[in-house]
Amino acid sequence: MTSSPPIMIVGAGVLGLCTAFALKQRGHAVRLVDPGRPNASVVAAGMIAPAMESAIDDLSPDQARLLKDGRDLWPAFARESGIVLMRRPAEWRGGEADRIGARLAALGFDLTRDGDRVITTDDWQVEPGQAMAALKAALGEALIAGEAAEVEAGAAGAWRLRVGERWIAASGLVVATGAAPAFEGLPPATRAQIDAIQPIRGQIGVARAALTDQVKRGPGAYVAPMGSGAVVGATMEPGRRDTAPDTQTGRRLLEAAWRVLGRSPQPLEVDWRAGVRGATADGLPLAGPAPDGERLFLALAPRRNGWLLGPLVGSAVADWIEGRTPSPDARALDPRRF
Ligand SMILES: Cc1cc2nc3c(=O)[nH]c(=O)nc-3n(C[C@H](O)[C@H](O)[C@H](O)COP(=O)(O)OP(=O)(O)OC[C@H]3O[C@@H](n4cnc5c(N)ncnc54)[C@H](O)[C@@H]3O)c2cc1C
Repeated sequence: MTSSPPIMIVGAGVLGLCTAFALKQRGHAVRLVDPGRPNASVVAAGMIAPAMESAIDDLSPDQARLLKDGRDLWPAFARESGIVLMRRPAEWRGGEADRIGARLAALGFDLTRDGDRVITTDDWQVEPGQAMAALKAALGEALIAGEAAEVEAGAAGAWRLRVGERWIAASGLVVATGAAPAFEGLPPATRAQIDAIQPIRGQIGVARAALTDQVKRGPGAYVAPMGSGAVVGATMEPGRRDTAPDTQTGRRLLEAAWRVLGRSPQPLEVDWRAGVRGATADGLPLAGPAPDGERLFLALAPRRNGWLLGPLVGSAVADWIEGRTPSPDARALDPRRF
């Protein structure tokens, strides 16, 4: 008896990895294909931040609840995958503290006020490098190095995927290619939906100095611990896909970062980099069935919250693949909502 081909996931950023992990845990054969280049997931700060993200972007109560639900999947997900989850308080400092505090309170998040500081215990953090390594280790030989050049749909949800000269058979396809344009062979409505994803460049810097022991945010910048140093981030530059760091942008971020830290500027060695986030019109990811094509699924466009929402996207896509009744959160991320 021959076993059916694996479910193929294209793209091993946080969304592809979380989807592959969820499917593997449920006993499915999965393979992931990714060229292994730096991506948005690896440059990110790893904040699991439903509270501050909801307050900063003035999200609706429903969207804030969805972010909180996504966060609540993290303790079990981290335990099962070997990811280190850091549950240290996060703070906002400086201008707009009143607005941020009022939004946190209105949305039901935990907060403490201390002068111009707003502190919450509702936001956590992971280190993307450690988290990606843990997920890749858990997936082992499922990872294929390469780029999906084209796909072909067969009968009854069967797919063939070309990586270099090699064709790989799949019993379902998950597109998790970040902000990249659609590859060849996808059906037209799916192609159009992928190409409508807005790229948003984000520049971030890695400093070797330990600038803070918890996430600190404020107008124009945040500073977050990372390994034995810190990251300083991040810009939101809609419409840009370029990833070469820009010196002036770095200088601006650093000035804002010193204000957030409440310290006067000092010489600091920073290694700047940039990643491109993908975003939909409502700011929420596409997680579930593609608009056309059989056994074709999307795990795309989580905007600023790919790490926060990774486990939720992974389990929602796995539920759709298994034909389970989607949860209200999974329904909110259904790509066919547009
Ligand atoms: C500066 C910055 C800071 C951020 N900070 C945070 C944060 O603190 N918290 C948070 O939750 N989120 C944060 N984000 C957002 C988060 O990083 C993104 O939302 C998330 O990484 C997107 O994940 P993804 O899997 O969709 O895409 P990506 O990480 O871009 O992964 C997509 C992968 O698909 C691959 N791919 C593309 N085309 C193909 C193909 N044809 N074949 C094979 N592979 C292909 C790419 O090479 C890539 O590896 C930040 C982002 C940036 C840029």
